[in-house]
Amino acid sequence: MTSSFVENLMASVIARNPQEPEFHQAVREVAESVEMVIAREPQLARSKVLDRLVEPERQIMFRVPWVDDRGEVQINRGFRIEFSSAIGPYKGGLRFHPSVYLGIIKFLGFEQIFKNALTTTPIGGGKGGSDFNPKGKSDDEVMRFCQSFMSELFRHIGPDTDVPAGDIGVGGREIGFMFGQYKRLTNTFTGVLTGKGLGWGGSLARTQATGYGLVYFVTRMLQDRGTDWKGKRVVVSGSGNVAIYAAQKAQQLGAKVIAVSDSNGYIVDEAGIKVETVQRIKEVERGRIREYADEHASAKYVEDWQGIWSIPCDIALPSATQNEIDEEAAEKLVANKCIAVGEGANMPSTPEAIKVFQDNGVSFGPAKAANAGGVATSALEMAQNSMRINWTFEEVDRRLKMIMDAVYDQCTSAAEAYGAKGDLVSGANIAGFLKVARAMMAQGVV
Ligand code: NDP
Repeated sequence: MTSSFVENLMASVIARNPQEPEFHQAVREVAESVEMVIAREPQLARSKVLDRLVEPERQIMFRVPWVDDRGEVQINRGFRIEFSSAIGPYKGGLRFHPSVYLGIIKFLGFEQIFKNALTTTPIGGGKGGSDFNPKGKSDDEVMRFCQSFMSELFRHIGPDTDVPAGDIGVGGREIGFMFGQYKRLTNTFTGVLTGKGLGWGGSLARTQATGYGLVYFVTRMLQDRGTDWKGKRVVVSGSGNVAIYAAQKAQQLGAKVIAVSDSNGYIVDEAGIKVETVQRIKEVERGRIREYADEHASAKYVEDWQGIWSIPCDIALPSATQNEIDEEAAEKLVANKCIAVGEGANMPSTPEAIKVFQDNGVSFGPAKAANAGGVATSALEMAQNSMRINWTFEEVDRRLKMIMDAVYDQCTSAAEAYGAKGDLVSGANIAGFLKVARAMMAQGVV
């Protein structure tokens, strides 16, 4: 097996999925990592496991019409990509953001297959969303949109079929509106969505899980370098669900979080970011991060969101969006002596940036492993729903920690077994792929 294997696969993926660069990027990374696995096990090549995996089992695209507060009709596009059900029902979030198109949902859905496999829980891979922008919309408008979105989506999902969750632009409010509509249309109260409110089927610690899980994963990376969070300067991009709880847990473990951002700019506060202020501004008031600087004299606001990577730090946790760290940003982080990068967002580092980190001895935790705590805890929410019980916060957090340890161990041992010791990118791809590939082999050509 040579790299012609990767090039042939990519030629076919690009021809069949033109103008979807994010999807191509995600597939290429996995193909490069698992090439050596397939070379060792020719039966995987014969049964075309990877060629089958890059083709989603089902792709759903639909019209989402709704009426805004002025009485005007608006039309958005909805997506659900059911990528792989080899190891469990499709599972993955819904993203509402104007940048959403088929290629973004496919890249996210493809990544989700391997991430979910790493969690040790029985869930397949899927993703969905819409080009709807919840920013600046009233609660009523968001509700009407969510109801219209679910009026089509409901026929494709179910607690044993496909279980969506939140992602960018989809938090507790949106999950609530969609759950209500699903329940009304189907006359069932089931665990069809995760990220639900605590009084109606949600799990304690689900809100915190992605950010906390990220910090648990990076803790292991730091341990391998003989260090920990104490006194470390940490920069977290974004100020949404993942960023807020990553910052909170890092602080609890003794780090000093000095910067967070949104899609307009970043704030830097050398006195340490007050996470409660960020939570109030972003989660309650739905405001902008620049408002933080109005309240804290030690903080400075800079209207350049990508400039956040020029702030000297020991640990970087990109938790906003894809491709937010390019080669130049990575070089700045290296020049400023950053020792570890843990990806909270999905694919926030470009391939060139990852190379810069790896070539310069920066510990690098790739998204599909480092941010797997969110979906893992969604699987714990599904388990609680099926059993009709609720675990305590401490119980869910304990299981989350165990899962993040298991994710880390799988990545390191797979990397070592395939001659790439310490390379968590290869390790995550190989371990996730092997679990799914073995299930596909057992289930025949389907
Ligand atoms: P939120 O919508 O809660 O927050 C997103 C944050 O990132 C906001 O601060 C937002 O700024 C910023 N952001 C979004 N898009 C862009 C952009 N194009 N450019 C710059 N900044 C941007 O989303 P989440 O925190 O849930 O998700 C963040 C990332 O983590 C995503 O990549 C998501 O896929 C990933 N993820 C999320 C999980 C979860 O459980 N929520 C699980 C695993 C991964 P603004 O407020 O200005 O929009």
